[in-house]
Amino acid sequence: MFSPNRTKSQIKKRLPDREAFIIKEKQTEMNPMEVKIIRSRRRKRTISARVVGKVMHVHAPENIPDDKLKKVVEDFKTRFEKRKIKKELKSKESLEKIGQRLNKRYFGGRLKVSLIKYVTNQNKQFGSCNYRTGTIRLSHRLAEMPEWVRDYVLLHEMAHIIEPNHSKSFWELVSRYKLAERARGYLIAKGMEMEEDVQD
Ligand SMILES: [Zn+2]
Repeated sequence: MFSPNRTKSQIKKRLPDREAFIIKEKQTEMNPMEVKIIRSRRRKRTISARVVGKVMHVHAPENIPDDKLKKVVEDFKTRFEKRKIKKELKSKESLEKIGQRLNKRYFGGRLKVSLIKYVTNQNKQFGSCNYRTGTIRLSHRLAEMPEWVRDYVLLHEMAHIIEPNHSKSFWELVSRYKLAERARGYLIAKGMEMEEDVQD
């Protein structure tokens, strides 16, 4: 038996070295999920992942090649991000509802918006609008930002249905939103000042 004076962490250190290598991927703007990779000597083939708090723990065999592991980690990340978005969409006011609210307030409910959705492939661009079809796509990152920022972006994209370009009349439409300037500053600080080109 171990002596009672030994601390918990000392006991842990004496356990068999199962976590042969630990790589910690830092959380950044481009990489919203922190990843901890634990290479295990005992594991032979399987790779598993689970989210603990805000960190994704990936357990992998010790000898798996880096490139293979990288691909698996990316797949896990995408899967968890999607799951997270689904959960958020369920708990929050739907984008459709928010769109209807903004439409009523700023466009007299007359704007033809056919679809508003979050997409996960827009990390630097806050959104895009196809003014011909009335389709608006927002970066999934907005789901985690303050509601007034998300509303600004949605209103911005909605205004493009009337004014496809960033013309004077476009900014007149957008500036009716009181927090427009503040929201723009917020997005720039997050490295999201860009917008995807409007597609035909
Ligand atoms: Zn724009």
